[in-house]
Amino acid sequence: MSAALAPLARAPEQGCIPTTLPARTITVAAGDGIGPEITAAVLRVLAAADPMLSFHEVTVGLKAYQQGEASGLGSEALEAVTGHGVFLKGPITTPQGGGYKSVNVTLRKLLGLYANVRPSVAYVPFVQALHPGMDVVVVRENEEDTYAGIEHRQTDEVYQCLKLITRPGCERICRYAFEYARAHGRRKVTCMTKSNIMKLTDGLFQQVFEKTARDYPEIVAEHMIIDIGTARMAARPEEFDVVVTPNLYGDILSDVAAEVSGSIGLAGSANIGRDCAMFEAVHGSAPDIAGRDVANPSGLLLAAVMMLNHLGRHAPATLVQNAWSRTLEDGIHTGDIFRPGISKRRVGTQAFAEAVIERLGLQPQHLPAAQPARRVPMPCFEEATVQAAQPSKELVGVDVFLHWDEAGRDPAVLGRRLQWSQAGGLRLDLITNRGVKVYPGGCPQTLRSDHWRCRFSAGGPAVAARDVPALLSQLAEAGLDVVKTENLYVFDGQPGYSQAQGA
Ligand code: NAD
Repeated sequence: MSAALAPLARAPEQGCIPTTLPARTITVAAGDGIGPEITAAVLRVLAAADPMLSFHEVTVGLKAYQQGEASGLGSEALEAVTGHGVFLKGPITTPQGGGYKSVNVTLRKLLGLYANVRPSVAYVPFVQALHPGMDVVVVRENEEDTYAGIEHRQTDEVYQCLKLITRPGCERICRYAFEYARAHGRRKVTCMTKSNIMKLTDGLFQQVFEKTARDYPEIVAEHMIIDIGTARMAARPEEFDVVVTPNLYGDILSDVAAEVSGSIGLAGSANIGRDCAMFEAVHGSAPDIAGRDVANPSGLLLAAVMMLNHLGRHAPATLVQNAWSRTLEDGIHTGDIFRPGISKRRVGTQAFAEAVIERLGLQPQHLPAAQPARRVPMPCFEEATVQAAQPSKELVGVDVFLHWDEAGRDPAVLGRRLQWSQAGGLRLDLITNRGVKVYPGGCPQTLRSDHWRCRFSAGGPAVAARDVPALLSQLAEAGLDVVKTENLYVFDGQPGYSQAQGA
């Protein structure tokens, strides 16, 4: 790829380019749409700032899909990424339908890229923004939550998506957020969850966050409910520094943060795992402007700066960041951020890269100069998990989910029918519909679907494991359609299940 590069407008200042760094190869995919243009521009800057880097180009995206790779990854891509450990990826056009998988989702899961790191910074007055003082980093858990992709249709009316939150998953993302804050001299980490409603799953995330925070006494730790947290991010983002969240909230919150910073087109992101990491722009492949040399390469360039820091190549990272800030300050802008009065020269993709290269070795005069960051250590979560004491675990009941659409969906009819089903100590406690208790008692106004959660227990004491299948075969013999069961366990004396609302 580098052979196709045009010559530089002028050599960067001699003496500023680090030449003593060890040689390092990174995997690169140009991607689709504007991907090849912005990738070529970024590689030119990298080649100038860090001559000891070399690039191994792989095929990812439309070309791979067309070659029959449903994952969008060319045959050699995965081997190259795991071999070199880092991947700088241009944006991909994801084809609609046809069983194609998202390259990002596939790579995150295959390579265990558990931390998505997205800085959102305002570059006022050079780029317009609602909140001039904003400088936030959202650290989003990248693999778990509703993104585990475990969904089922259970009845005519009801579909389910499983939200999975694990203790090791919480431990490594929370620790990563604090380590990131420490390595980048940041002072506060805010955790956002919905633990007031999802007491077990989000409650675990909050609990692990609070425990982890004790190891970082110099960093302020706070927890916020995600709804007010997102509203604050939109209205007063200057109050935040580093934010850590489970996957779904982080997906939304990081877009809100990028949007209000005014620089979604300038934002880079990192997907970090224990052995591999992937760096990319936040924006997509922008097919509407592809091939016209007008795209802004800044998102991918700032992602490349994150990559250099991740590799411990802080000197070239600082050089590129500062040269990029200086280019913005000098009013050399691509069309997307060009503003008469502030901008001085409208340039294309490659000319922007040349302007950055010309400024290697210069410091910004208004925007903050890049601070060399320490490498973020990878949290050693396996060790923590192995060392944790195993809790005691007792089976105390079972939630049986039924598809039932008879008797006008009258819960009393179902309740009376289930009173006859008993196995060992298991007896019917209650029935809920969409999480609301409808039997015994209940409220006629409650909307009832064809999906019923029927809780059986011995009223407190442990029950035998064999009682559960015995109960299920009774229900089957009674002609009831069991669509799912969840065992109810007590761990160290604490219920490992939610109580029914209105119970
Ligand atoms: P997009 O980000 O590609 O484009 C949105 C708008 O922003 C367009 O008007 C575009 O011209 C503009 N834009 C984006 N990047 C720009 C840049 N660097 N310089 C100047 N203007 C820029 O979003 P979209 O149109 O919703 O998606 C297009 C394709 O990209 C879709 O196939 C989508 O699936 C894919 N996508 C890929 C990634 C990724 O690979 N990480 C991320 C998001 C979207």
